[in-house]
Amino acid sequence: MSISETQSKVTASHLQRDAYLYVRQSTMRQVIENSESAVRQYDLRGRAVALGWPRERVIVIDVDQGLSGATAADREGFQRLVADVSLKKAGIVLGLECSRLARNNSDWHRLLELCALTDTLICDEDGLYDPSTINDRLLLGLKGAMSEAELHILRSRLRGGTLSKARRGELRTSLPAGLVYDPLGKVTLDPDTAVQGAIRHLFECFERTGSARAVVKEFTARKLTFPQRIRTGPRKGEAVWAALHHDRVLMVLHNPRYAGAFAFGRRQSQYLAGKMTVRQLPRDQWTALIPDAHPGYISFAQFEANQALLLANAQARGCERRAGPPREGPALLQGLVICARCGQRMTVRYHHPGGHTVPEYLCQNEAINTATSRRCQTIPGAGIDRALATLLLDTLTPVALEVALTVAQELEQRADEADKLRQTHVERARYQAELARRRYLSVDPDNRLVANTLEADWNAKLRALADAQDDYERARTNGNGRLSDEQRAKVMALASDFPRLWNDPATPQRERKRMVRLLVEDVTLARDQQITAHVRLKGGQTHALTLPLPSPVWQTRQTHPDTFKLIDQLLDDHTDAQTAELLNQAGRTTGTGQPFTALSVLRLRQDHRLPSHRQRLRARGLLTPAEMAQRLGVHTSTIKNWHAAGLLTGHKANEQNEQLYEPPAPDDPRLVKHAGSRLKNRESHPSTPGGAV
Ligand SMILES: [Zn+2]
Repeated sequence: MSISETQSKVTASHLQRDAYLYVRQSTMRQVIENSESAVRQYDLRGRAVALGWPRERVIVIDVDQGLSGATAADREGFQRLVADVSLKKAGIVLGLECSRLARNNSDWHRLLELCALTDTLICDEDGLYDPSTINDRLLLGLKGAMSEAELHILRSRLRGGTLSKARRGELRTSLPAGLVYDPLGKVTLDPDTAVQGAIRHLFECFERTGSARAVVKEFTARKLTFPQRIRTGPRKGEAVWAALHHDRVLMVLHNPRYAGAFAFGRRQSQYLAGKMTVRQLPRDQWTALIPDAHPGYISFAQFEANQALLLANAQARGCERRAGPPREGPALLQGLVICARCGQRMTVRYHHPGGHTVPEYLCQNEAINTATSRRCQTIPGAGIDRALATLLLDTLTPVALEVALTVAQELEQRADEADKLRQTHVERARYQAELARRRYLSVDPDNRLVANTLEADWNAKLRALADAQDDYERARTNGNGRLSDEQRAKVMALASDFPRLWNDPATPQRERKRMVRLLVEDVTLARDQQITAHVRLKGGQTHALTLPLPSPVWQTRQTHPDTFKLIDQLLDDHTDAQTAELLNQAGRTTGTGQPFTALSVLRLRQDHRLPSHRQRLRARGLLTPAEMAQRLGVHTSTIKNWHAAGLLTGHKANEQNEQLYEPPAPDDPRLVKHAGSRLKNRESHPSTPGGAV
């Protein structure tokens, strides 16, 4: 392309407008490592100047630096460029390689179209193009297509041979730990029994618990390690033993080779928008899946069952409103309860009064969100679980279920129709927005008044489109709770067998929880004067249950008032143990119907702040041995001797056999006989320590 030809493309109309230099690198790493390319990009500014634009009218758009360019939607800089081009602000767009100006081909074609419409030039290192002329337009289009095709051809050539081998199941791929190639190249189980044992234990543990997390917990609790094959480096192929982590468990469970199946192409690495990404493919897009190709640790059927379970667990985590997997613990509705006050899922907590486990449902969302201890509501769970079980047993006859499921299906069909209607609404909005855009683009930009009105109109139409799309999405996500054929079959099978399974004492609580999950969509709980539970079953039926609030623990366990009065009287003259004994003789029992013990009497009087027998004796003026000894001026052992000899009146104060003594009358002849002079002596000199007799 000659200089004159190049320059003839630049007209006065172009030069009146600004030059746009679009600088982009797709990743932060490129920004750091590839500054040379950035220098080249900025050099294009010199080119714009050479073509006749004043340096200060070259606008650099480089906000995309460090952002990846998968689509134009999240690239502010590219959008600004498109907007300015469509507003006819740009006379020329400069970029390093114009085909890479917009990485994704549809973005590229849109920009080309706009440049053609607005008579904007395009310039890269190879040359200057006028997209409104057919030749340049074709050339540019081709450049964009080529950059995509180039990558594709390169990739497919490399993969062609590999793929056909993989389709025959003959490709030798690296095997996961636990599987090895024998000398003939056939896949067999690793002869190391420790490796085999660890893998078998993982599968068995998952089958037992139904959760990958539980597998990790068990391995950790029992300090078990798991084999792992080194993939690269000098020790490549060797097995090392390391702690088992959650992602490793998932990898093992998802790998069909453990089920003896040859699989290839489960993941796809793509060079998307200048970046290598790896994504998991759905199974129907795998290159090859050949069951029973070699020995495995589980059957293919078991593998399929595991996948279904993992999917269900993952869905539970994916969305707040969906049910969680059944965990340990007896609360039937764990993961299914929704708080009626705030609409969030409630969690379970267990209490263990007297050895029983009692669940309690609580809403902590407010506390978590606000980082305070404010709890939205707390609802005792035992009554709810019982009521729900009764409800399920009463209502879930096969006939009732069949009807419910049929109704649900009809509702789904109606929802589909509504969905189509809403979709046409979105289409209409999109068409009108497009119409407004074209009207706006076709107006002479110098005709300001008309252009402004049309621009406002275009904006309004775009907003209407966004609203319509939002409505559509919202309506779609609200239409959840649909049943797949498979779920439907499961529910029906369960219905005929349900009461027997439920009441069988051998059925583990976890299985009951699974059954509840199959049958119940969710339960919304509210508490005020009573507990209200709105149960939504899978078929779409709803039931409202009302339950009385259970009386608080202290009330149900209160000791009968008469018994309590008796205890108060007995403590005047008896220790805790003696009181308990007398109560039992009188046929009284505790609030929970148990016989009294010294400990239960102790707790009762502590809870109700009743004075103990000892405190009562002290209040009556009885003295401790030390006080008595001091009073009489003798050693404490003398007091004990006198008590044993019957000279002093003592009372047993507690279970430790402590004695308290009636104070001596000042004229007690027995005391005067033994200690008369000293007693007088001590009274006149109270500070003198008393000596032994
Ligand atoms: Zn709440």
